Amino acid sequence: MRAKKRIRPLADLWEWQTEAACRGLDGAVFYSPAGERGSERIRREDRARSVCQACTVREKCALFALALGEPYGVWGGLTEAERRHIARQAQAGQTAGRGR
Ligand code: SF4
Repeated sequence: MRAKKRIRPLADLWEWQTEAACRGLDGAVFYSPAGERGSERIRREDRARSVCQACTVREKCALFALALGEPYGVWGGLTEAERRHIARQAQAGQTAGRGR
């Protein structure tokens, strides 16, 4: 017998965002404008991270972005590059585990 799939209201997936410290802030702090590079990008990401640092839903936010493979912006205090790195590490770990 197949297990019944539990249906969750979609709002549950997003509810944590009502407590987000970035709510109402300028999105330009979290998302890079076209052509942004080097120290400019680092400064903006540091500003975003400082907001995330004080956010009560930081872990949920980071896990959400990692689970969705969110390619853009700072989420949960993690930059795009940091999330890509974590995803690569996780994938490498899964690949290594299949060797047996
Ligand atoms: S962790 Fe950062 S990006 Fe995520 S909700 Fe909080 S302030 Fe916003």
